[in-house]
Amino acid sequence: MHRLAQLDHRYVWHPFTQMQDWLKQKPIVITRGQGAVLQDVHGREYLDANSSIWTNLHGHNHPKINTAIQRQLKKISHSSALGFANKPASLLAEKLVKAANPEIYDLRWTIDEKEHQKPRKSKIENRKLQKVFFSDDGSTAMEVALKLAYEFARRSGFSEKPRFLTLDRAYHGDTVGAVSLGHIDLFHRRYRDLLFKSDQVMSPYCYRCPFNRARPERADAREYRQCHWECVDMVEKKFHAQKKRGNPYAALVVEPLIQGAAGMIPQPVGWLRRVADIARGHGALLIADEVMTGFGRTGVSGSEFRVSSLKQASQNPELGTRNPELLFACHHEGVQPDFLALAKGMTGGYLPMAATLTTQAVFDAFLGDYAEFKTFFHGHSFTANQLGAAAALASLELLHSEQSIRARQKLEQTLRAELQTLWALRNVGDIRQVGLIVGVELIKDWRTRKPFDLRERAGIRVCEAMARRGVLTRPVGNAVGLMPPYCTTAGQAQQMVNALFQAIQSELGAKARARS
Ligand code: PMP
Repeated sequence: MHRLAQLDHRYVWHPFTQMQDWLKQKPIVITRGQGAVLQDVHGREYLDANSSIWTNLHGHNHPKINTAIQRQLKKISHSSALGFANKPASLLAEKLVKAANPEIYDLRWTIDEKEHQKPRKSKIENRKLQKVFFSDDGSTAMEVALKLAYEFARRSGFSEKPRFLTLDRAYHGDTVGAVSLGHIDLFHRRYRDLLFKSDQVMSPYCYRCPFNRARPERADAREYRQCHWECVDMVEKKFHAQKKRGNPYAALVVEPLIQGAAGMIPQPVGWLRRVADIARGHGALLIADEVMTGFGRTGVSGSEFRVSSLKQASQNPELGTRNPELLFACHHEGVQPDFLALAKGMTGGYLPMAATLTTQAVFDAFLGDYAEFKTFFHGHSFTANQLGAAAALASLELLHSEQSIRARQKLEQTLRAELQTLWALRNVGDIRQVGLIVGVELIKDWRTRKPFDLRERAGIRVCEAMARRGVLTRPVGNAVGLMPPYCTTAGQAQQMVNALFQAIQSELGAKARARS
């Protein structure tokens, strides 16, 4: 074994990893990256099919981001934001605010034709996100959002003991506050006594929804589902019940359009808009965790499927021409949150840096004379890190470029086309794509939707087999995620899907004929 691998085995404890299994295998030691390709210590190349755990946007070793970091490095790498401002962080805050407040439209009428007979195309109410609190990673960005929301709800007299509503299988990070908002039993149960209590409500997991009466088909379950939006009713009921208890929910926390660590669970078109309306109707704040979905991941116009569904619902030809530069998932449904948590891709996936954006109203609640002690007593040593901010500025510039927009559109289409091949496999139950995010749910037999027991390690085995074929990704439970960098070529995308196809075949069983 290579010396670096030996050192790893001897000293390093890896995240979300059963180390007993890890120690049985030779680790892949990554030493280089170029575009969508990673290289290991032996010179073997792999495709980075999950953008190094959903972080990398434009590819590794990108000349523009490299240059931005090198330029900044020659000036200064870090200075404290406790007491001082700095250039890249100030510039970045302005750019983030601009990106977080695009022209977005109220899409309610496109979703509920009956209620809104006449098309309305008004700008959504002005809930401008204009303050940026920098932190280090997704967990701290969510920690900041939840502390601000908690304190804002108290200071505004909304609630003495603010309570949060989050989704089934929610995952918002691993710090104790973020874990309190989470509902993945496997990860979170053990720490129950350390956590504050948050409530959970059904998330719209169409493929396994007890209200979906449709028989399984060879298509994304959102397309053929038969239901009456019972999942939305459940949200409404939760809000009502909590109001009756005399302490209405202070905030609803969601990952907009698709829940990642929950198992790549996408929301049907219109779900987000509907639950946002319910939360607003009850005076609750909306916290959007866009740690995974932010910075263009959910597609240039929210995915082809999304746009065509909205078009069908509304017969409105204008929908296809919505602002092509929407970078955040919630804007694809005309929803503006009170808190927007960003991390992962913010620096193009180069450096750990995060941000929580919020409104003037929240900011103002923390203003006062020093002696009133209304200060937000929270902050991290590396807050507003100069190198990270320089990388983020370069990444944003790339994101807004024509070239990047075209590349993302093309990659989304290529993935959509390539993924069709997987329907031929008996062990593929659902293929879910939101923009450039893909989840493929592995099952025993698509006709029965019978799941693999987690102990069978179906997802892990398939990803290991993909690695042997030169493609790296990780499963979330029984779903395999594909989330390639935006520079991924059509050939590379095809290679990723082929590797997944072959890995499923080799690990889980023989190819079965798809339903004709
Ligand atoms: N929120 C979401 C939606 C995430 O996917 C993650 C990480 N996978 C986090 C928060 C936590 O981010 P980090 O790992 O950077 O702390």
